[in-house]
Amino acid sequence: MPFKWTVPLSDLDYGAPERAAVLRVLKSRWLTMGPEVEAFEKEFARATGAKHAVAVSNATAGLRLCLLALGAGKGDEVLQPALNFVASANATRTVGAEPVFADILSLEEPTVDPAELEARVTAKTKIVVAMHYGGRPCRMAEIAALCRRKKLALIEDACHAVGASYKGRPVGVLGDAACFSFFGNKNMATGEGGMVTTDRDDVAEKVRRLRSHGMTTLTWDRHRGHASRYDVTDHGYNDRLDELHAALGRAQLKKLPGNNRRRARWAALYLRRLKNLSGWSVPFAGMPGDSAHHLMVVLAPDEAARDAAAAAFKEARVQTSLHYPCVADFTAFRGRSSGGLAKTRDFARRALTLPLFPTMTAAQVEAVCRVLRRAGA
Ligand SMILES: *Cc1c(COP(=O)(O)O)cnc(C)c1O
Repeated sequence: MPFKWTVPLSDLDYGAPERAAVLRVLKSRWLTMGPEVEAFEKEFARATGAKHAVAVSNATAGLRLCLLALGAGKGDEVLQPALNFVASANATRTVGAEPVFADILSLEEPTVDPAELEARVTAKTKIVVAMHYGGRPCRMAEIAALCRRKKLALIEDACHAVGASYKGRPVGVLGDAACFSFFGNKNMATGEGGMVTTDRDDVAEKVRRLRSHGMTTLTWDRHRGHASRYDVTDHGYNDRLDELHAALGRAQLKKLPGNNRRRARWAALYLRRLKNLSGWSVPFAGMPGDSAHHLMVVLAPDEAARDAAAAAFKEARVQTSLHYPCVADFTAFRGRSSGGLAKTRDFARRALTLPLFPTMTAAQVEAVCRVLRRAGA
């Protein structure tokens, strides 16, 4: 029996469409890389405006495949934010490259600072991974310009930002490739699952091939009699998505615009309730721009106030979290590029993530805010 929260950090919007999707696959008697995956890829490509969408088993695999497809390997450096989930750093190490961490712009705008990225470019730098923190796109115009100037490839880690756009263009088409996650607590949830989007034919082709053992034809094509022989042209992997997860993804994709609007509504209500809380602030508050509102993060005046609030939430059985500790401070990633990340570390000491999910109620938002007002007063 899981611990019973009065308000969980996130919750699924699952119902009849998801049940029907799973049953449709069970009745079809075809479990992996078939019509559901194909349809999910087409529908996702249409939603993001990307030329290609390639379904993968999770976003970490997607990041690894994008790094490989864009040529990262032994001896290369991959620039990425220090305020991030550890997946980018792990994927970088997996391909034999070294992550180099850059600081955020500010506590108000905790996405990666383009000037910080530029300061850390060396002769070994190959790729920049930009992460749209909390659902808010990074300063992609500056980052893309830097990448053009320095001849670097650009990957969007769009795991927080499915459905968001930047200057009128959807995330997913703002770099050479983008990765999305459908992990259980993301804006679209299938359990495990991910998607790579790209406008580049060469990247799409390579990601497709590496996803399936480096083979030149797919099981599904052979099943349909389209091909019977294959070659293996690359050291490949098995990073495929199966039909059950793809079917769930299609149901969740239909709900995404409405659910992101509901997230925006709850985020706005939080902001109204918390704006007079002395010493506390909300990142991105009042800044123009779109967001997928993946996370509701608040910043305490200091670490002690944050920890006191976290304890008060636990007492009230309201689930909170921290997004994220500074990646460069983890044992596995401490090293050369751990210096000069003061803003990320300050952010990590003061940040607290509050519950935010489409199916929450105004009463739940009010209850969370009451706990914070009591703890923060
Ligand atoms: C969730 C997440 C990932 C990893 O996604 P998986 O599908 O679980 O591998 C990577 N980056 C960020 C920013 C994430 O939030």
